[in-house]
Amino acid sequence: MLVVMERSATPEQVEGVVRVIEQMGLEAHAVPGAQRTAIGITGNEQKVKAALLGSLPGVLEIINAAQPFRLASREFQAENTRVRVGDVTFGDRFVPVIAGPCSVESEYQVLTIAERVKKAGATLFRGGAFKPRTSPYDFQGLGEAGLEILARMREQFGLPVVTEAVDPVNLELVEQYADMIQIGARNMQNFSLLRRAGRSRKPVLLKRGMSATLTELLMAAEYILSEGNRQVVLCERGVRNFADHTRNTLDLSAVPYVHHKSHLPIVVDPSHGTGQRDKVDALSRAAVAVGADGLLVEVHNEPEKALSDGMQSLYMDQFDRLMATARDIARVVDRTM
Ligand code: PEP
Ligand code: MN
Repeated sequence: MLVVMERSATPEQVEGVVRVIEQMGLEAHAVPGAQRTAIGITGNEQKVKAALLGSLPGVLEIINAAQPFRLASREFQAENTRVRVGDVTFGDRFVPVIAGPCSVESEYQVLTIAERVKKAGATLFRGGAFKPRTSPYDFQGLGEAGLEILARMREQFGLPVVTEAVDPVNLELVEQYADMIQIGARNMQNFSLLRRAGRSRKPVLLKRGMSATLTELLMAAEYILSEGNRQVVLCERGVRNFADHTRNTLDLSAVPYVHHKSHLPIVVDPSHGTGQRDKVDALSRAAVAVGADGLLVEVHNEPEKALSDGMQSLYMDQFDRLMATARDIARVVDRTM
């Protein structure tokens, strides 16, 4: 449920409504907009006394949100959320590109890739130090040593670090190094991890689960938002279905759908979305054309030797070309890259 304040409502009136909501045993989330302030209510809806709220000074109307997600909905916040990571903003005209290897493997590997992707125009660097792998026998990541490598990369090249946290305890460590915390597809409904990420001060990159609907993705975001962290970027990374010509089916319709239903930015990951490096370029262009707020692309200095996801990792010169052609598309849709 949502309380929409009048344009002329004073800060004291907003405070008053917040207080009454809290007295009902609920949580109030006030979001000042360009036009007016909206106050989202979370908690047990049974406790809401709508008539009482509607009678308070400064209240324009009470909206019964049509969506199960509230804080993530456009009804709650009409303006796009802008998520800042270092000097980079998601949810603006500029389309940031997050690039790097699937896993951090060595300092040499990270620095080599970082230098090259930065030159090509990537604005954030991503590499996993903790990898949630399908098989327990596969490479699980370098752990904290990998985070230290990422921190040295940032020192040298100035690229903000995006890296994954795999459970709530692990997040304690990851947030000390990361500029943006990734929550992977396999963890999209790890609710204790989502809640812990919601209490972090770092922005979160939330990937869609491989069998998750968009409502489920937005509900997962809601867990983070409802704990107080509003800095959430969603990521479409492909879903499973009957098609077996690609690793996953990249669902580009997620982008306009999310833009319609939510104020959160959404980026596209064509690497996991296809699993095949020769298709990453075309789908990156398509993602930009459809309005994606960023790209997440796996790049490796020696993909054939990669410890994870080598098949979908671009050669560094392929990444140069991707940036050039995606930029052309960005121009057509009035974005910059
Ligand atoms: C990854 O980003 O390397 C990864 C494991 O992706 P996903 O969680 O989308 O499978
Ligand atoms: Mn990967």
